[in-house]
Order: sequence, then structure tokens, then C-alpha cells
Amino acid sequence: TSFTPDAPALVLGGSRGMGAAIVRRLAAEGRPTAFTYAASPGPAAALAAEIEATGGTALALQADSADAGAVRAAIEAAVTRFGKLGVLVVNAGVLKAGTIDQFALADFDHMLAVNVRGVFAAIHYAAPHLTDGGRVVVIGSNTAGHIGTPGSSVYAMTKAAVAQLARGAALDFAPRKITVNTVQPGPIATDMTADLMDYITPRLPLGRIGEASEVAGLVAWLAGPDAGYVTGASVTIDGGWSA
Ligand code: NDP
Repeated sequence: TSFTPDAPALVLGGSRGMGAAIVRRLAAEGRPTAFTYAASPGPAAALAAEIEATGGTALALQADSADAGAVRAAIEAAVTRFGKLGVLVVNAGVLKAGTIDQFALADFDHMLAVNVRGVFAAIHYAAPHLTDGGRVVVIGSNTAGHIGTPGSSVYAMTKAAVAQLARGAALDFAPRKITVNTVQPGPIATDMTADLMDYITPRLPLGRIGEASEVAGLVAWLAGPDAGYVTGASVTIDGGWSA
């Protein structure tokens, strides 16, 4: 089965931040691109309109990744509209900081529901709809390896969990020539990190925070023709933060 450069893509959590940059990039490369959002219909509609206005094809779908049924419905809606998926990017994630003694159980459950169960649900329900030779990219975090600051234990745990889930998935789907990789960003300028800029920037070896488009470029490479032999990998893109 050959690689199909214009096969449709689905990005879970694509309305803002890195997800939106990934949607823009995949659509610009000629892939009809569906994406989900949880709570921001405005940015989602604006992104879809922007892509359509520049000659691309996009579809915005509301689906909270904490709700596996909604994830399944979004995948099926994307496939109904565009056909079998060549690329699945699981980007939806939430960050709640706090030391373990102060961390509420409800927040723990929500983090696991979105960052781990939601990733499983996405891959699980997308699996029958992926083309052979397709690509799955999970957006993890460099905290899966090096945490570096207090208050990130639960977040880091969820990102370590999905890195290992993706490694296992790489083996599960290897017979279908589907690659599964994790991208592990470090500090990237998005809404998620807006309040942390002053703390982070002076501590970054490269002296600047990363751009969402830089992560999108790495995802596009993993989804592209040159990365067919890369599977089960965790690729760090963090400006040297964890070096
Ligand atoms: P943002 O908070 O800027 O954007 C998150 C995106 O995910 C939005 O489109 C949001 O949709 C969507 N999303 C959030 N929760 C859900 C949900 N429950 N169901 C569906 N979609 C959801 O985050 P970033 O772009 O910064 O982060 C993207 C990913 O990268 C996350 O997995 C994050 O953990 C990871 N990451 C981020 C880093 C950073 O420095 N920014 C570093 C390392 C990893 P909506 O608009 O509806 O809320």
C-alpha cells in the first residue's frame, strides 16, 4: 500500500494553538482536513473559513475528547464527508498545574479523561477508518521525560502514558504500514502557556519560546513521504529545555 499525500486528515483539538497550526499546515499541503474543538465554536469557524478562503478544504466538528462517544461521532462525520483518513493527529490536551497534595481528584479525572482516555478513544475509533500506510501523530509533551518544575506531576504522567500508548500502537498497526509517533513539544507560545511566558523564556536554552508553526512542521514531516520508516518514536521539540 502506497503513501497518499492528499488523503484526508483529522486533527483532534484543532481550533486553537498548535492544533490550529497543524490544521493550517495539513490543509495547505492539499489534504481535506477535519478538526474538532470542545468549547470554542468562534475560533473553529474562523479557522475553517480561513482555510476555505485560501483554497483548502476544512470541516470543524464539536467533540469533547473527554466524551468517547463524541470522539467516535466526529471521526465518523469526518470519514462520511472526506473518506478514509490518511492522517490522524491527536492534539487535544489540557493542562492543570498543582502539587499532588493540592491537586483535586476531579481535576485528576478530567486530565486523564482528555489527555489519556481521549487519545485512546481517538486511535481506537479511527483505526478502522485509517488508510493502510496512514499516519498517526500524538501530541505529548517533553514533560513525559524531564519534568523540571514542581506542580506538573499529573500532566507529565498523562503525557508519559500516551507516549507509551503510541509506542504500543506503532506495533499494533505496523502490519498495516500505519506509523504512530509522539511529538513532545516543550514551551510553545499558545493560550496554554500565555501566563507562563515570563517564567519560561529566560530559562530556554535557545532564548525564545517555540512557535506553533514549528510544531506543525514536524507533524507535517511525520505525516509526509519522508517519514515512512519512523514509527514508535517520541520526537522532542523544546528549544533545548530538556537537554
Ligand atoms: P491550547 O490550549 O492553546 O489549545 C488546545 C486545543 O485543544 C484547542 O483547540 C482546544 O479546543 C482543544 N481542546 C482542549 N480540550 C479539549 C477537549 N476536551 N476536547 C477537544 N478539544 C479540546 O493548547 P496548546 O496548543 O498549547 O496545546 C496543544 C497540545 O500540546 C496539548 O495536548 C498540550 O498538552 C500539548 N503541549 C503544549 C505545550 C505548550 O507549551 N503549549 C507544550 C507541550 C505539550 P477549544 O478551543 O474548544 O478549547
